[in-house]
Amino acid sequence: MNIPRTSYPRIVIIGGGFAGVALAKKLSKQEVQVVLLDKHNYHTFQPLLYQVSTGGLEPDSIAYPIRKILKDFPNFYFRLANVKAVDTKKNKVKTSIGDLKFDYLVIASGSKTNYFGNSEIETHSMAMKTIPQSLNLRSLILENFEDALLTSDLNERNALMNFVIVGGGPTGVELAGALAEIKKGILPKDYPDLDTRLAQIHVVQGGERILPGMSDKASQKAEDFLEKLGVNIWKNVRVTNYDGKTATTDTDLTFETATLIWAAGVKGATIKGLDAGDFITRGNRLIVNEYSQVKGFEHIFAAGDVACMETEDFPNGLPMMAQPAIQQGEQLGHNLLKLIEEKPLKPFTYKDKGSMATIGRNKAVVDLKKWKFQGVFAWYVWMFVHLFFLIGFRNRMVVFINWVYNYVRFDREARLIIRPFKRRSNG
Ligand SMILES: Cc1cc2nc3c(=O)[nH]c(=O)nc-3n(C[C@H](O)[C@H](O)[C@H](O)COP(=O)(O)OP(=O)(O)OC[C@H]3O[C@@H](n4cnc5c(N)ncnc54)[C@H](O)[C@@H]3O)c2cc1C
Repeated sequence: MNIPRTSYPRIVIIGGGFAGVALAKKLSKQEVQVVLLDKHNYHTFQPLLYQVSTGGLEPDSIAYPIRKILKDFPNFYFRLANVKAVDTKKNKVKTSIGDLKFDYLVIASGSKTNYFGNSEIETHSMAMKTIPQSLNLRSLILENFEDALLTSDLNERNALMNFVIVGGGPTGVELAGALAEIKKGILPKDYPDLDTRLAQIHVVQGGERILPGMSDKASQKAEDFLEKLGVNIWKNVRVTNYDGKTATTDTDLTFETATLIWAAGVKGATIKGLDAGDFITRGNRLIVNEYSQVKGFEHIFAAGDVACMETEDFPNGLPMMAQPAIQQGEQLGHNLLKLIEEKPLKPFTYKDKGSMATIGRNKAVVDLKKWKFQGVFAWYVWMFVHLFFLIGFRNRMVVFINWVYNYVRFDREARLIIRPFKRRSNG
């Protein structure tokens, strides 16, 4: 990998997401060598992926080069590599570009879409965890409307304009809101010769309310907002299969649809060598203690979505969200330096800063610890927080300008089929 061995201890970080970047920043300018490995050369701001999928933002405005984030740090190395396995006996990671020894290892590989073992759904549905997946979804949505315009078969046209989102968490809700805005504001202008009123957006939620991680009030308001936008919400319904044409559920309900978006769950993106039963708990996450140490190891750590740290307030592990990942990454940086200096480590405590979701134009729900609010003000707070946490001045400016433009013009300029999505054959 062409990384020199120095007298400094080598800390290898797998993953340049929220946890990995926060940790690497904490270790900058310290007497350690940091090697960050990621299969992408950019950090992805996942909370805005849905805007890429719906043509509201260009992908490069929510991605940032990892090398640039850490360019001024001495003793820092980035390598574009897919980590395949961890050899815990030889203290080595095996990657697509070779092996690398470590003194300390941090697994911050995040999570991946959980299909709960249903390979047919995995094959035919669309996921939205990465920028390439979001671009696929953007292309598919637009290609569907182009196809709908050409077909004379009414059933086929309806299926092409029928969008089924499985999962009523923040991702599903935000995507549904954005699709509803497209239906209202963009489609009639772009496709005057297509009856776009026929376009249907469905959110299918297994539980009894959408946004189950938020307050009852937020769930209720989000449901009201979505219904006003014309979104159909199906609660206590589970999608059981999808063959590329028909989605079946555990009720009598079925959907004929060319687009099923799977936002029903994620699981830890564990790495071979540390994926056996002993290390793993619910959600395929690595069991870590209050210092982020993986069960059974002093020098191997995990942070962010892939780590399951049980606390009194969160007995099933901290939520798989950006804030726990950032806070764990920062705290781990502090503790790694303590460990190297042979000083006592500080246990992690999570400061819950609340959660929020936006539902189309002018509408959002915000749950803070002491204050819960919904509507236009919540929408401003949502925008401010997302701009604040985006990495890079240029990205903030580009996103801000896009949002202002889209708001004033009722537009979404990035509705481009740059890289057509090749539909999988259902034969
Ligand atoms: C669509 C969507 C919307 C979301 N919205 C919100 C929101 O509004 N608010 C919120 O708080 N959270 C939100 N989240 C969740 C939040 O993005 C995650 O909790 C957060 O990204 C977790 O950070 P992380 O550092 O653990 O992992 P990630 O940010 O996912 O980073 C993991 C990194 O590891 C790399 N990687 C993985 N495996 C390997 C490997 N084998 N080799 C090399 N590199 C590897 C990946 O390329 C990636 O860069 C959303 C997530 C999604 C998908």
